[in-house]
Amino acid sequence: MHDWTEPGAFEVADGVFRVPLGMPGDGLEAVNVYALETLDGLALVDAGWRTDTGLAELESALRGIGRGADEVHDVYVTHVHRDHYTLAMELRRRFGARIGLGRGEAPGLHQLLEIESNVPVTSVQQLHRSGDPELAAVIEEMTGAIEYDPASWEKPDTWLSCGEHAVGGRLLEAVATPGHTRGHLVFHDLAAGLLFAGDHLLPTISPSIGFELGEWDLPLGDYLDSLECTLERPDALLLPAHGAPGGSAHARATELIEHHETRLAETVAAVDRLGSATAAQVARLLTWTRRRRAYADLDDFNRMIATCETIAHLDVLVARGRAVVAADAAGARFSLV
Ligand SMILES: [Zn+2]
Repeated sequence: MHDWTEPGAFEVADGVFRVPLGMPGDGLEAVNVYALETLDGLALVDAGWRTDTGLAELESALRGIGRGADEVHDVYVTHVHRDHYTLAMELRRRFGARIGLGRGEAPGLHQLLEIESNVPVTSVQQLHRSGDPELAAVIEEMTGAIEYDPASWEKPDTWLSCGEHAVGGRLLEAVATPGHTRGHLVFHDLAAGLLFAGDHLLPTISPSIGFELGEWDLPLGDYLDSLECTLERPDALLLPAHGAPGGSAHARATELIEHHETRLAETVAAVDRLGSATAAQVARLLTWTRRRRAYADLDDFNRMIATCETIAHLDVLVARGRAVVAADAAGARFSLV
């Protein structure tokens, strides 16, 4: 089977090219940037990650279809994660590209610009709330050691609102899909039947929930609502930011809803077994990734993702009246009602 991470520019619809860019040292392997031909040049949906080779990879892929990165006049970014946003800074500096990012990403980006650090402070807080201060300390030290590069993090030119944006000859409708991040947008080309889904819908994995700075709120509850909202819109060809393109966006949204309902049921069963439990305790009873790995086999970063994912599920059980929570200095303890 064709490997979706193979470099190049691949036409996925009339005038729309998928350009996978490598993600060194990251389990996701690559991020798909989508290049759209316009009358004035090119517009991108997502920019990719500003690594040492990111721009060169983009340029060489575009050269393969007779185009250049200097033709990029606009970048529409689905969310503020580094693998989607940061290469846009470079495209603006070198070629004057305008950057649009969802308005809902502003609080997270502003907080990042203020703390000037790679420490995921909100996730660290959730680890404390999950009753795992040891892991919180490990993550703080590990991420605090990564140098913060201000050239990767600047404000966009435009804070995008929901609704239609004219991009060359097409209309992209920006649709709020909070969950993966609070201000996540997908871009829906209704006329062509295309959904530029960012990390809202990924073909083989379920996107992480609430890995961003700012208020925690109820990220999984928001995500499940966003999946339902996707189903209420016309179906479209799924163009994900990670993984092979193709298939029905509706079919994948339905699978992801089912996946989370199964996870919620497994979470209920784990709390039932433990009586009263912190998210850290529940996370150790669940299995992780598609390969159903034990918590003990995950690295520290993925333990953080797993624990935050668990507390997000527990928070939804509380919101649904299925569980109650009592919090003290040692964290939040959940029990079934
Ligand atoms: Zn991503």
